[in-house]
Amino acid sequence: MLRLSIFAAALLAASGHAQKLALDLLPEPLLIKRLSEGQVKQGLRQEEIHRVFEEAGCKPVDQPIDHSSGNVVCTLPGETGSEIVVGGHFDFAGQGYGIVDDWSGAALLPSLYQTLKSQPRHHTFVLVSFGEEERGLFGSRWFVKHLSPGERADILAFMNLECLGLGHVNVWTTRSTKSLVLSLNQVAHALSIPLFTVNVDRVGDDDTHPFLGAKIPVLSIHSITEATLPVLHSPADRLSAVKPGSYYESYRLVAFYLAWLDAVD
Ligand SMILES: [Zn+2]
Repeated sequence: MLRLSIFAAALLAASGHAQKLALDLLPEPLLIKRLSEGQVKQGLRQEEIHRVFEEAGCKPVDQPIDHSSGNVVCTLPGETGSEIVVGGHFDFAGQGYGIVDDWSGAALLPSLYQTLKSQPRHHTFVLVSFGEEERGLFGSRWFVKHLSPGERADILAFMNLECLGLGHVNVWTTRSTKSLVLSLNQVAHALSIPLFTVNVDRVGDDDTHPFLGAKIPVLSIHSITEATLPVLHSPADRLSAVKPGSYYESYRLVAFYLAWLDAVD
């Protein structure tokens, strides 16, 4: 394992915590291997994400949403009842393999679990790979609908990982909660990772939608630009569309951001 430590005093000073944020990051070849494992038929993707969660040391729960498909939920318990939920959908539309949209997000969840569990966590992390996103956000709608009022109130934030690895990380800022965008920006700056705003209101929707409807703070990230948009839902949505360096950069950013949220919130 590669140990990467950053000194994040500037980040944490605002909240009165001056501490080092350190994480054992997984190596890039493991992330690319997990990305390649999405090259299976649509009907096998749920089984596959379940398997990758198990490989990462989690015992995920399959949450049925209809007769054929469900969400796959992996929980990393923390010391408080407060939760940070992270999502990425395993289903895909069109030809190709849907490696960008959205195995790239789904396959990052087990790696995030593995990275975060190496130290005790303050908050509970709930990593959800949603099913049936492409049919109309069925999985995430089901998930939010079945939260009790108390469970909803316990969720500090929902972060959605959508279409990563085409290039640098972009934030859908018009969809995201402002305070979360600002803090992600701070963490990206501390890591010297470029972060851009690309709003996709005109071209799509994502799993943040039902969470936002339930008044839960959300953050939506992706890597789509006008130039790469045609890759989605096309035969070009395959492993070769992903730039390994960009994909690894999104992993680093999300892993440190989640650790940061855990440390300061
Ligand atoms: Zn998608």
